[in-house]
Amino acid sequence: MLDILRRIVQKVNAAQDLDCALEIIVKQVKRAISADVCSVYLTDIDQRNHVLMATDGLLQEAVGKVKIPLHRGLIGLVCERAELLNLDDASSHPRYLRVIETGEASYKGFLGVPIIQHRKVLGVLVVRQEAPRCFGDNEVTFLFTLAAQLAGAIIHAQASGELVTHQSQAEKAPIRFLQGRPGSTGVAIGTAVVAFRQADLDAVPDRSSTNTEEDIKEFHVAVGRVQDDLRQLKERLSDDISAEDRALFDALLLMLSGDTLVSHTVDRINKGEWVQSALHHTIEEHTRAFDSMDDPYLRERGSDVRDLGRRILHYLQTGKPREVNYPDKTILVGDDVSAVDLAEISKERLVGIISAKGSSSSHVAILARAMGVPAVMGVTDLPASRVEGCEVILDGYRGRVYIAPAPAVKQEYERLAKEDQELSREMEALRGEPSETTDGVLMPLYLNTGLVSEMSTLGADEAEGVGLYRTEFPFMVRDRFPGEEVQITNYTRILDSFTPRPVVLRTLDIGGDKPLPYFPISEPNPFLGWRGIRISLDHPEIFLTQIRAMLRAGIGHNNLQIMLPMISSVPEVDELLMLIQRAHDELMEEGYVVSMPRVGVMIEVPSAVYQIEELARRVDFISIGTNDLTQYLLAVDRNNAFVAELYDDLHPAVLRALVQIVDGAKKYGRPISVCGEMAGNPLACVLLLGMGVDSLSMSAGSLLKVKWVIRSFSRTLAKQHLRSVLRMEDPKQVRNFMTSALEDMGLAGLVRPGK
Ligand code: PEP
Ligand code: MG
Repeated sequence: MLDILRRIVQKVNAAQDLDCALEIIVKQVKRAISADVCSVYLTDIDQRNHVLMATDGLLQEAVGKVKIPLHRGLIGLVCERAELLNLDDASSHPRYLRVIETGEASYKGFLGVPIIQHRKVLGVLVVRQEAPRCFGDNEVTFLFTLAAQLAGAIIHAQASGELVTHQSQAEKAPIRFLQGRPGSTGVAIGTAVVAFRQADLDAVPDRSSTNTEEDIKEFHVAVGRVQDDLRQLKERLSDDISAEDRALFDALLLMLSGDTLVSHTVDRINKGEWVQSALHHTIEEHTRAFDSMDDPYLRERGSDVRDLGRRILHYLQTGKPREVNYPDKTILVGDDVSAVDLAEISKERLVGIISAKGSSSSHVAILARAMGVPAVMGVTDLPASRVEGCEVILDGYRGRVYIAPAPAVKQEYERLAKEDQELSREMEALRGEPSETTDGVLMPLYLNTGLVSEMSTLGADEAEGVGLYRTEFPFMVRDRFPGEEVQITNYTRILDSFTPRPVVLRTLDIGGDKPLPYFPISEPNPFLGWRGIRISLDHPEIFLTQIRAMLRAGIGHNNLQIMLPMISSVPEVDELLMLIQRAHDELMEEGYVVSMPRVGVMIEVPSAVYQIEELARRVDFISIGTNDLTQYLLAVDRNNAFVAELYDDLHPAVLRALVQIVDGAKKYGRPISVCGEMAGNPLACVLLLGMGVDSLSMSAGSLLKVKWVIRSFSRTLAKQHLRSVLRMEDPKQVRNFMTSALEDMGLAGLVRPGK
């Protein structure tokens, strides 16, 4: 049964559109359960009905036409209870509704299971039997398990199908936008360009060939190079592997010299496909054939085909630099858009970012906010590779994505985008004004920077300095650890451009979602693993090189401060402070006149919250990393789209932890700032003001928004709001309360589209 289940889900996942997906489901399920009928109804909440979308066994003419009112019949019952219903004689049930048009009246046995995603019922999967039949446990659990996996595939197929947009289907389909999480506020309307990882077949976008002959030539060259590689590999391994295993190489070489793979790809190119997508589709077609085989050995061969595909793709992608023409209004779309992808596009052309993976605290979202580019993250149902060239609207306030939007939707968003622009213009007037509350309390705003080196001075004029310079990026884009001199150049540039304003350089925080290509770390739970300061302590040579570079860059600037991330215990700080002192003393011995900088720690691990006083006593300042603190307090991976809804820095537990940190730091007179993304959130900054936080550090794109909020509130009112919020139990309650607080001040435009 497990095998059948796996195969059905696989086929549904590969379906081109919703109709194909549903067709597969009804046919395969009917056969697997030996039922007389299998049908799928999809629920359209707007129209308040359940539409018969596919059937094997009932009258085909009824498909798309039969619509059962939302709360009527057994389908309505399964949907409203969100529970399965197993009846040996459906017609004797009080909720039974006789539907003539489907010809179903003569069926007695009934098993209906809800198709649910993210707590929402999308539809009902039903099997029927002419004779009375109470479906057995095996059948019930089969259908149940299948339905649980189908929801995602159905939404995916539906979204893919909408791209081909036949109006009739769009009318049938209940969803009209894809839901993700807000990544960076704002509205964008533009053309999708797909960002993709090299040698990732699934990420290759569908494009048309611009030069068929050239593409075919390129393809043959790439195939030739893979053949050479395989022959060499076989040769090299000849002493180490058995003849049987060597035969695998022969089989692979055969696949490349025999014509199917090659000629199918060439055929596709001749029909107008771009070489990479032609290869992708050919490989997909072949693997699908293998995947559906019952023999596990043959199924494995499917992965060989994929491997060959990836090898060829690698040569196609690296043999020649990739040239993409970015349209004027590019919306970068990808399965997992990275900070490096962003660096490829000129800032003037990039108007939006949509990523299937990640959440608002992923680094790419942070970068998007820094650049003031709207972004939607964690759109799990995004058919990323199929949207190339489509018109797309993204709503970064509500986390919505509209692909090939209807004219009315576009019109509305054009209006909202215009209002957003007006708002931005109004905000421009705040440049140069102090960040001061109406009762005269100054709340200095600092800049978070460093994610992409060339953007480090973005927003520089508005900020009082740099509150967080992330040093990872220069480490991530190299093929080895940067040496002391390279690092000095880097740090000098940032210290220089802000001098005399303070610059807080954070020591290396790799691991977690920031791996280094040349320093592979393989661990099951990277965020709970070898990360940040833990690596620095285990590799003092890496840490000392960085500290030496920072101290040397600081000579003559007088604005350097150093911050230590991921602190989880007191001895860590003692040891790190000793190392910093050692680097300082050694440099002095070497003749460099370096001064000891102010050193602070980040509070971003729950254990540090409870030892705030011991930590504050030891250092010069405290900065709260709410991105990680939220993830660790709530046990919600900050990059995981499936739990993104649970990630909330307005959660009462987070707020209470913050109060505790601020009070602890104040006890020792240490200045306290917040450098997580919460600081740049208009809703949250009022509460931070109320807590007595001394400064805020944020992405460039948030500076003016937060200044506007700070200048609209008094510290007294902020304290009052904090007191109210601390009595609340539910994060949503806090969010709603703060939204109305901003609305009362005429600042609603900062948290939703329009003015
Ligand atoms: C944080 O965790 O809040 C933080 C500022 O650091 P990063 O986002 O780089 O992990
Ligand atoms: Mg952090």
